[in-house]
Amino acid sequence: MIKTTVAALLKGKDLLQNINVNGWVRTFRSNRFIALNDGSSLNNIQCVLDFEAFDEATLKRITTGAAINVKGTLIESLGKGQKFEIQVTELSILGDCNPEVYPIQPKKHSLEFLREQAHLRIRTNTFSAVMRLRSALAFAVHQYFTQNGFYYFNAPIITGSDAEGAGELFRVSNLDAKKLPLTNTGAVDYSQDFFGKQTNLTVSGQLEAETYALALGKVYTFGPTFRAENSNTTRHLAEFWMIEPEVAFNDLEDNMDLAQDFIQYTLKYVLEHCQDDLDFLNQRLADEEKTKPTQERSEFSLLEKLHFVVDNNFKRVSYTEAIEILKNSAPNKKNKFQYPIKEWGADLQSEHERFLVEKHFKCPVILYDYPAEIKAFYMRLNEDGKTVRAMDVLFPGIGEIVGGSQREERLDVLVEKIKALGINEKELWWYLDLRKFGTCVHSGFGLGFERLVQFTTGMGNIRDVIPYPRYPQNAEF
Ligand code: ATP
Ligand code: MN
Repeated sequence: MIKTTVAALLKGKDLLQNINVNGWVRTFRSNRFIALNDGSSLNNIQCVLDFEAFDEATLKRITTGAAINVKGTLIESLGKGQKFEIQVTELSILGDCNPEVYPIQPKKHSLEFLREQAHLRIRTNTFSAVMRLRSALAFAVHQYFTQNGFYYFNAPIITGSDAEGAGELFRVSNLDAKKLPLTNTGAVDYSQDFFGKQTNLTVSGQLEAETYALALGKVYTFGPTFRAENSNTTRHLAEFWMIEPEVAFNDLEDNMDLAQDFIQYTLKYVLEHCQDDLDFLNQRLADEEKTKPTQERSEFSLLEKLHFVVDNNFKRVSYTEAIEILKNSAPNKKNKFQYPIKEWGADLQSEHERFLVEKHFKCPVILYDYPAEIKAFYMRLNEDGKTVRAMDVLFPGIGEIVGGSQREERLDVLVEKIKALGINEKELWWYLDLRKFGTCVHSGFGLGFERLVQFTTGMGNIRDVIPYPRYPQNAEF
């Protein structure tokens, strides 16, 4: 007897063999047909019972969600909808599932309802497809970097530096919140805290990745990052996974090439390896689009969007050019932007980014050379003295998917910038050391993994592409 999976059975290679498979009942109809799923595939295998061979009590226990073991013969199916099916000779109930109280019924549930049942939502087609794709994308990320000579680097999750400046921090402390030790001036005395100083969950592994790039050449992080920003949007999480390559001797153009090549590789990988799941999500999105007013519907299907990104270069546009386009755009002139673009120097909001990508260029865009004032301290200053070598990759429907830069490698310029911003230079002693000991041009970027999963799966809300989303007022599960 061959112990096997649904995915293997659906390929039909154990035809006419005695097989043994475990799984969960998706549906049971006519006391005869079980649709069985074990997570190995989006598709179910049909198991056919001769109900006269089974007692009434057993048949009653074959309900949606029940765990069962099936033994039988794999045969070619005469019915429509499947090539192979199992003729069941033995069936045992491994775990009952009471249909009266089981939240996941064989019908369409709203994504909001399923978010409240995040421990069970993975049993639906949509979430199993999303999470299998997430897993495949993560594999593709590691494969891309490994094949291209990068080392996987684990940045610390608890950090003592608050200089990254990428958003609000979650403090890490084991002080007794009811009895905080205070200094003479009445401030919390963090010298008595676990690490002897104030510590936080990391918002980015970049600064540490730079230290590794300047020894190992090419490195990347792929780990959790945390931001306590109170942004209740469809694109922000308080805990998300970030991929941050950092490469010595790469300038901004190399960095743009890397970002494009990397994203295209991961999408190509899933197009080649996850066809069933992508076809399903393609259809899901098409059905969802049909419920929208015609003018709001996307011109392209999910698969068309993925192929488009894989097959086309990302358009590279300087911030200055982008501002000109935005200033002269119809929505700006008709006062349709919430934040009208008045002059050079304005920070771009997602409405502007989306106009550039979705309406103007109609393709992924890399914006570069931003005003120094609106970007982080570590980005390399251009010769014009007012812009920095920053780049953001903007995607349709998502907005910013990548943020990166060429880093400031000149000690004097960096120190001056740090002082001007009032950042504590002493805290960054190790970061500044890189500029003293064998400094070199180097660049990197951060890609929010969930935003990539969102784009790949066509899911509208980032809370639906991570197993247990953390966002304001929610840390259930
Ligand atoms: P945004 O402007 O979208 O808030 P950001 O400019 O603050 O993003 P960066 O600091 O540049 O983000 O981080 C790099 C990447 O990490 C972003 O391009 C995005 O893909 C992702 N990212 C940033 N913040 C979040 C978040 N709160 N949840 C999920 N992904 C995020
Ligand atoms: Mn950014």
